[in-house]
Amino acid sequence: MNTIRLLERFLRYVNIDTRSVFDSPRYPSSEGQRELGRLLVAELTAIGLTDASQDEWGIVMGTLPATPGNESVPMISWCAHMDTSPEASGQNVKPAVIRNYDGQKINLYGNTAITLTLAKHPELAEMCGKTLIVTDGTTLLGADDKAGLAIIMEAIESLCENASSMHGPIRVCFSCDEETGCGADHLNPQKLGTACYTVDGDAGEKINIETFSAAQAIVRVTGQNCHPGAAKGFMINAVRVLSRFIELLPRAIAPETTDERDGFLHPFEMSGDTASATAKVLIRDFETPMLSIRGDFLRSIGKTCELEFPGAKVEIEITEQYLNMRDDLNRDPRSFQLAEQALRNLGKEPIRKLIRGGTDGSRLTAMGVPTPNLSAGAHCMHSVEEWACLEEMETTVQWLCEIAKLWTNE
Ligand SMILES: [Zn+2]
Repeated sequence: MNTIRLLERFLRYVNIDTRSVFDSPRYPSSEGQRELGRLLVAELTAIGLTDASQDEWGIVMGTLPATPGNESVPMISWCAHMDTSPEASGQNVKPAVIRNYDGQKINLYGNTAITLTLAKHPELAEMCGKTLIVTDGTTLLGADDKAGLAIIMEAIESLCENASSMHGPIRVCFSCDEETGCGADHLNPQKLGTACYTVDGDAGEKINIETFSAAQAIVRVTGQNCHPGAAKGFMINAVRVLSRFIELLPRAIAPETTDERDGFLHPFEMSGDTASATAKVLIRDFETPMLSIRGDFLRSIGKTCELEFPGAKVEIEITEQYLNMRDDLNRDPRSFQLAEQALRNLGKEPIRKLIRGGTDGSRLTAMGVPTPNLSAGAHCMHSVEEWACLEEMETTVQWLCEIAKLWTNE
């Protein structure tokens, strides 16, 4: 592995603005993703992957063939996403590299109002002596997920350079629009082999094998409108009915009051008038059967509101979004068992961490390709205070190579 080359790659990729766009009619939702994809295809080709290409959706794929004697080893894939979050600017990213970090607060040179303090970023306490990459305080860094891209590219190149490396076929997949929830929309699971590893976000030696199971409810209230001056006994105010509905959602089952393994109901959008009103509610839980139990609970609240406001109609439409990958991963646990063994072989203990959200991996796992997620050395993602740790990125490069080696015994 070449650490300088890893850092240079990362700095090259964050240079291209690839913010995705919510509710875009186009895929990928921004031209920058195609531009970065073209660069990655050129680099994969230069490394020696003869089939590297970008498809009509902007997705980049390429295959590193097996080393001699390992042609029958099951193919695995390594996946990272090219877009960055729309939640902070990604234009004109000016990264600063801090070598041999001294453990003190970090001033961001483009925005004096922002300082990375140990109070806000407790992980900084463990970073003394390491190489950190920060922003200038006006944009995000894009380590989510360009650290993942750089890690995968460096792992591929170092496997190619190392004459003694042993691995089966490895497919590289760089996807688009993950941050807007569309990352798996145009991925073909058949092209990803027996197991896939997303290298996406998070810090340290973490492996994610559990995500939320998720659904969304749309609550539609129909009232009855008329002139307020002559409304007595006739008007049914949908705004009041919907407000009552929201009031009946327990505060103890909300994102702001729960953590760890607790699920929640999260009303996050509402609009309406006297005649009709609508709200959207996220339903989240680590236990998939709880989605329908929580859905029934919403319906029972709807009935209560109909009783309290005679004549009002409350309809609830629930759509499943994604499921906890744990249940499907357990059907073929090799993907994460080999990953955990690989990290132990490097002398580090893997930390299993729950994702209180979803990943491309949740959908790929549901489509039949077991896809755990590995940490990429990114901290405080989606923020102008985002930073990355080069040594953590190095560890994941070695981690991927060791995983590839362990698969040759399968
Ligand atoms: Zn990400």
